[in-house]
Amino acid sequence: MQTMWNRWGIRPELLEQAKEIEGSLAPVWKRIAEVREYNQLKVLSALQEARISESDFGGTTGYGYDDKGRDQLEVAFAKAFGAEAALVRAQISAGTQALTVAFFGVLRPGDELLSITGTPYDTLARVIGLDEEKSNEGSLKDFGVHYREIPLSEQTGGIDVSRVCEELRPETKLVLIQRSRGYGLRRSLRVKEIGEAIAAVKARRPDVVVMVDNCYGEFTDYQEPTELGADLCVGSLIKNPGGGLAPTGGYIVGKQEWVERCANRLYAPGLGLHAGPSLGLNRAFTQGFFLAPHTVSECLRGLSFAAALFRARGFESQPAPEEERSDIIQTLTFHSPEPMIAFCQAIQQAAPVDSYVRPEPWPMPGYACDVIMAAGAFVQGSSIELSADGPVEEPYTVFMQGGLVYENVKLAALLACEQILRAEAKEQA
Ligand SMILES: *Cc1c(COP(=O)(O)O)cnc(C)c1O
Repeated sequence: MQTMWNRWGIRPELLEQAKEIEGSLAPVWKRIAEVREYNQLKVLSALQEARISESDFGGTTGYGYDDKGRDQLEVAFAKAFGAEAALVRAQISAGTQALTVAFFGVLRPGDELLSITGTPYDTLARVIGLDEEKSNEGSLKDFGVHYREIPLSEQTGGIDVSRVCEELRPETKLVLIQRSRGYGLRRSLRVKEIGEAIAAVKARRPDVVVMVDNCYGEFTDYQEPTELGADLCVGSLIKNPGGGLAPTGGYIVGKQEWVERCANRLYAPGLGLHAGPSLGLNRAFTQGFFLAPHTVSECLRGLSFAAALFRARGFESQPAPEEERSDIIQTLTFHSPEPMIAFCQAIQQAAPVDSYVRPEPWPMPGYACDVIMAAGAFVQGSSIELSADGPVEEPYTVFMQGGLVYENVKLAALLACEQILRAEAKEQA
């Protein structure tokens, strides 16, 4: 074994430490394995009930009518999410587009969108019409949809349920909940907490549509928000539910009525769920969905290992290694540029693709400081695959996410440590 790790020059002391850390993480990994088992059985039974057939994976072209493999996968998604219907499509390229389709599918001029988890994910600013510098042309605002947001509770970091209930207005049509921290400094929300907020909103206003931005959250917990009353759950197939195999795609699951309205918005009124060729992607989507609970558990184990290893070296991680996770993102804070840059370069060096590339900080448009990004992925922009990035400024925090296989994340973390140790030794010499 040592000779295998030697290929990357990992010193024996680090491997010893890794072994100790893996031992100490046993209780954390036990829960991850339980959640994985539960979700694996959930997905497997959903695929069986949907009567998935290998002969339907070929799919359709053109209009995409009567695409049996696509329709069956949508049945399986709906069953696994405890929902009535699903839209799982190659015509949705990622999460932002899926969320946009859902907003425009549900909201009409004069309606209000109320975010109850503070400011939504960055890419939604233009969609909602919040961007002060750029054009908001084509945004919800441009179409007469109003927007308000309620921040997360300062005390708990969770949803401020009593305030939300007070702030519901007659024009409030859609309540948005973001499950994952995204690239914010908030914490991610457990599905149970989301369920409690949904119940409170629905008790006051059963007619309000509750939609969850489920990106990065799928299969990290026993249930999905649709199982606890969310009308819609929306996400990306190049994150968790694509299992690393989907080369593109997005999904919307929930109540039949709203999913149909989203399909009419994506294709055309009247075409709805009937159009949309799968273009040969049914196999990758279905197999990826099958593998997703397993893949997500690999991410979670890898992230907890990296968090524990770097904590042992005196760096902070959010969430802490033993914390129950509700998404596949964590931050590591390095407090100086050298270890931060070394960490990102190690992530790249450990990747199965583009490992020979060396990422450097660069002045990315839209940022006041340099940014460093590392990703060596099979699918462009895939964040179920291991990647890391962050602005090179105080406090030198890196967001790391994903990881298809545990050993890859372990290698990346050990390699980063190895390089930080070598740099320190050089400095002292
Ligand atoms: C990733 C993500 C999105 C959508 O981003 P895409 O890059 O378009 O897939 C939206 N919300 C959250 C919380 C996310 O993590």
